[in-house]
Amino acid sequence: MTATDKHNTFMHALPVDDNGFYGHFGGAYIPETLRKNIDELREAFYRYAADESFKADFDALMRDYVGRPSPLYYAPRLSERYGTNIYLKREDLNHTGAHKINNAIGMALLARRMGKKRIIAETGAGQHGVATATVCALMDMECTIYMGAVDVERQLPNVQRMKMLGAKVVAVQSGNKTLKDAVTEALNDWCVNPESFYLIGSAVGPHPYPEIVSHFQSVISAEMRSQLLTHTGRECPDAVIACVGGGSNAAGAFYHFLDEKDVRLIAVEAAGKGVDTDMHAATLTLGKEGVLHGSRTMVLQTPDGEVMEPYSISAGLDYPGVGPLQAYLAETGRAEVLAATDAQALAAAMLLSRLEGIIPALESSHALAALEMLRFKPDDVVVVNLSGRGDKDMNTYLANLPG
Ligand SMILES: *Cc1c(COP(=O)(O)O)cnc(C)c1O
Repeated sequence: MTATDKHNTFMHALPVDDNGFYGHFGGAYIPETLRKNIDELREAFYRYAADESFKADFDALMRDYVGRPSPLYYAPRLSERYGTNIYLKREDLNHTGAHKINNAIGMALLARRMGKKRIIAETGAGQHGVATATVCALMDMECTIYMGAVDVERQLPNVQRMKMLGAKVVAVQSGNKTLKDAVTEALNDWCVNPESFYLIGSAVGPHPYPEIVSHFQSVISAEMRSQLLTHTGRECPDAVIACVGGGSNAAGAFYHFLDEKDVRLIAVEAAGKGVDTDMHAATLTLGKEGVLHGSRTMVLQTPDGEVMEPYSISAGLDYPGVGPLQAYLAETGRAEVLAATDAQALAAAMLLSRLEGIIPALESSHALAALEMLRFKPDDVVVVNLSGRGDKDMNTYLANLPG
């Protein structure tokens, strides 16, 4: 069976049971008022994900609107530097500049099939907000984006993009006024307006969201397999490296290799100022089990069980939880977990810019930083998922990088 066939037919390629548990992580811890919405969403997803005309609509938009397949680029100078064969999966070349559009399009198509006319979403850095506002314009849907008031201020260009695309941006004033609070407000809106569709931005939240997001992002590893076959003569690399915020680009990059035991899966989270400080977002490394946003997963917590405020130089990795799939892969040892500091990510961004002429998103730079921490053999094939482009991060780069 080819990767494409798998993508078409394997509805349950994920290690998830009927109740949405990945091992003991996941599930749907939701208020009764959301139960009906969640049931309706799950049924619609299983129906349409297996539907040929739905798949045809998704594939056509991936090709003609997003620009897929995204290239798998052999990076010669980076490869030479690390003494191995490094390929970059160029999600940065997608329309709107990151992998998030894959999921936004899949879910908006699902919303349309379900007869929904209004979309709710949350955003941190604004990347998911922009992707959602984009698909809402494309599909003529009303769009409300919740964003922490602090993030509204520090991510102004993305707020302006969302507004130009016709979205209503609500600045959330509760809590720490960042992503966690925006998710909470978006879920509240959904409770009050159950006829709306909640378009979540990462592989987090109550079942079936992590499964839906992973499914739409799995296009990344489906393409990797056929592209690797062309480039190297085999479908499987020796390692796949991805950064982890909520875990959606990692889920997409790992998906079609989960059962390939010889493929190392390497998840890189944000160590911020260091895992020995209290300024980090290293949830898999330092979190404890808990329930956050409807899912049992690893959560950064204070000793008395309060959700900790995470920190990362990269807004897209600045989340105190992580999706249940990544928690499961880490716990079972299927994925190796590394943590890269702000400084390591910045250095990796500079290196890629100068060696390959590609300015990566700060999030993706964390995945690149792992190359410094690992040793590969000269014949190894290593794929780094370049989840997004760095345009949005220019201010941070300019403020932090030498010359
Ligand atoms: C949002 C974002 C991430 C982190 O989210 P995941 O769900 O963990 O993928 C990573 N890279 C980029 C470019 C992003 O915009």
